[in-house]
Amino acid sequence: MGLGKVYLVGAGPGDPKLITVRGLEAIRRSDAIVYDRLAGPQLLGEARPDAEKVYVGKRPDRHTMKQEDINQLLVDLALQGKTVCRLKGGDPTVFGRVGEEAELLRRYGIAYEIIPGITSAIAVPAYAGIPVTHRDMASSFSVITGHESPDKLDKSIYWDKVTNATGTLLFLMGVAKIGYISEQLIKHGRPPETPVALVRWGTRAEQATLTGTLADIERKVKETGFEPPAVIVVGEVVRQRETLRWIENKPLFGWRVLVTRARSQASELSGKIDELGGEPYEFPVIETRLPQDPATIGRIEAALRDAESYDWVVLTSVNGVEYFFKWLYACSVDVRRFHRASFAAVGPKTAEALKERGILPDVLPEKFQAEDLLASLKDKLRPGQKALLPRGDLARKLLPDELRAMGLTAVELDVYETAMAAAKDEILPELLKEGGIHVVTFTSSSTVTNFMAALRQSGIEDPPALLRGAEIACIGPVTARTAEEHGLKVTIMAETATLDGLVAAMVERRRELLKQAAYDPKAGGV
Ligand code: SAH
Repeated sequence: MGLGKVYLVGAGPGDPKLITVRGLEAIRRSDAIVYDRLAGPQLLGEARPDAEKVYVGKRPDRHTMKQEDINQLLVDLALQGKTVCRLKGGDPTVFGRVGEEAELLRRYGIAYEIIPGITSAIAVPAYAGIPVTHRDMASSFSVITGHESPDKLDKSIYWDKVTNATGTLLFLMGVAKIGYISEQLIKHGRPPETPVALVRWGTRAEQATLTGTLADIERKVKETGFEPPAVIVVGEVVRQRETLRWIENKPLFGWRVLVTRARSQASELSGKIDELGGEPYEFPVIETRLPQDPATIGRIEAALRDAESYDWVVLTSVNGVEYFFKWLYACSVDVRRFHRASFAAVGPKTAEALKERGILPDVLPEKFQAEDLLASLKDKLRPGQKALLPRGDLARKLLPDELRAMGLTAVELDVYETAMAAAKDEILPELLKEGGIHVVTFTSSSTVTNFMAALRQSGIEDPPALLRGAEIACIGPVTARTAEEHGLKVTIMAETATLDGLVAAMVERRRELLKQAAYDPKAGGV
């Protein structure tokens, strides 16, 4: 077995989209991911499902792994022939101890690459509307550690030089020492009224900013109980925030929103949440797949052989359309053999999926539920006609039952089945426990059922209790009913059963909550 390789990767400041393309590739191709607290948790979802994931950061119950042990771990994994991704917050060369890791790898003759990341020193202020340089205010910036004990700080930092540097001062790891830092800066000549900002958990849902001056910032930190990790910005550029703050103005800022739908369908919803300033967190609990049962497959094949006998093909979901066409392809059936049939589609997305395949639906109800379809079909249906209903195995019975009541023959075809996704997520239970998921979205009854089952499987005994602090958002009344049946309190409900409707309802709820003076989200303080 040959030697493995180690990628020393900067994950960026937290927002998972702020990683480099090269860094993402390294995550995707690695056999093992060694990560710590500041690397965005969603990035782990990009690793191969079989990749080993090793957490080496701080834990409440035990001490941080020593740096020497981490260095050795990387060597050991590579000696086993593994490709390893060492994922670090921000940039790996900025207070990231990448030098020590690379040095040991070099001594063992193990190949490594250093893949830079966006450092929090620059990105976190930017997300608070503070540019680190400015033509009129700062023509340089210094990035300084605030971590050392005061006597060591004095040895490693030349306070007189730092203080009198022309530009912005950025302190990392400095929250606990804010008093000492401001004292030194004033002592060495920065005016006490110099503006200061502390930005905690920048680029994440928890981003919060505290501003003041060198003279009063320590008091403010104490009064508000402001906690690390934060970037401390000292200098005139802090004033820019008053006009340049941007992400905090977005309607979903401060919310981490769980997206439970199938991986293949999640990105559309995630994209909309992201666009509005929320932080999507994907945890797919369902996946769709071709049916496995031979009897079901036999029924599908038989129905497609009889294509000419149908008067109606009724499609009720995008998945239904996709899988219907997958079957046509698999059975080599030309869609023109359905020439006698009219096509009906529920909802614009379903209609769009049909159009993409060259079929313009004959009947298209304005609204999105089976009831609406029946209403618009009523005048057109004749007793004795035959309707094909390609759908998922969990589809409601209402439509076929009603068609039969009207004297039609309704042939239900389970062209796909919905299975529970084998999603594994080591971080989600922790996030839920500490209130780090602010909204849970459900886009179908099966997302509710499977989500609750997934939580129980991961050892959570009372999921509804765990979710009490979170907003529960449902796409429609059927989904909401299922959620209530599972003991959840639905607080957000789409007016129209579409993703846009769901997102609009979230925005509305967020606005309302922010209006209520009593509402004090742990996240999203500004
Ligand atoms: N290599 C990292 C820095 C590691 S030192 C980088 O380039 O960003 C850890 C310190 O970084 C923290 O104490 C804090 O000061 C800062 N930091 C990292 N991520 C941060 C974030 N999302 N928000 C605020 N501060 C952050």
